[in-house]
Amino acid sequence: MPAHLLQEEISPSYTMTTTTTITAPSSRALQNGATKGASKAPLEKDEEGISYEMRDDMFDPTYREKDGPKPKFIYVWRNIILMGLLHLGAVYGIFLLPSSHVYTLLWAFGYYLVSALGITAGAHRLWSHRTYKARLPLRIILMIANTMAFQNDIFEWSRDHRVHHKFSETDADPHNARRGFFFSHVGWLLVRKHPDVIEKGRLLDLSDLKSEKLVMFQRRYYKPGILLMCFIFPTFVPCYFWGESFTHSLFVATLLRYAVVLNATWLVNSAAHMYGTRPYDKNINPRENILVALGAVGEGFHNYHHTFPYDYSASEYRWHINFTTFFIDCMCLLGLAYDRKKVSKAAIEARCARTGEGSWKGR
Ligand SMILES: [Zn+2]
Ligand SMILES: [Zn+2]
Repeated sequence: MPAHLLQEEISPSYTMTTTTTITAPSSRALQNGATKGASKAPLEKDEEGISYEMRDDMFDPTYREKDGPKPKFIYVWRNIILMGLLHLGAVYGIFLLPSSHVYTLLWAFGYYLVSALGITAGAHRLWSHRTYKARLPLRIILMIANTMAFQNDIFEWSRDHRVHHKFSETDADPHNARRGFFFSHVGWLLVRKHPDVIEKGRLLDLSDLKSEKLVMFQRRYYKPGILLMCFIFPTFVPCYFWGESFTHSLFVATLLRYAVVLNATWLVNSAAHMYGTRPYDKNINPRENILVALGAVGEGFHNYHHTFPYDYSASEYRWHINFTTFFIDCMCLLGLAYDRKKVSKAAIEARCARTGEGSWKGR
């Protein structure tokens, strides 16, 4: 069991809605399960029979990049062409905005919000980091929302994301921000992965994902899933229900909306690793970026998130520019989510005093 989970206590103010307050996160080495043979202990199961503890999303300071010249980029032309076409279509969609039916605009915005939640509340906070637990109906909703977002299936997204946290800003980080804004934003999807990303990705503990039937179901039917949920359904609805033109439906509700969700998510990997403050840990690149938090429905508090990846709010705060946390809290009220992990203020304060740059706003 990771050491930080050994030191949990239930916060009295949140026992009604099952929040676990983590009072004293231990060193990264301990959280990595690097000592006491923790990585060999079997994962615990929750009420739904799902292993939920995370071990492989904490930074591993022991990794060293290989010496010598970096391998050359191998371009993936299929991705380059498809991404180019998508963004051309999205730009055309911007010009069609003024002539779109108001319902089409609302539909596109709603689809953006739901598909973004499929990434933030789903692939990110639930499946990559296990920061809270979700009952089957919510996991089905999040799996569908995640398919609407088409950013690789949950298994692949979570694997890449755990490697990103564990080997941040190194060759083994899939979107290593030290290779520049463009690479960490979208470039990493247009070239073959660095060999270290593949090598380290294979060594990760992904047993919780492999044992979750819903995650494997989405992976098996991913291609028809994205065709239907990312492209056909969002185009069909405006045409059928309020007589929108096929062109407006396709370019606004589908291509523009899809490109916006993609770019909002990518900004977390690019802008939030470059621009902003570092109140929690000045030794890492990820930063607090309000604009990214706005676009990525709450995922811009990235200095905090890389410091405390097990916090369900991905932020020190709860509903402050954080629609995803609001959504998870609503799901808790409905009984569909529970056991949200939250770092205590005392632990945050201690961490800021120890490793912050001095810009923490305090209690
Ligand atoms: Zn990051
Ligand atoms: Zn993360």
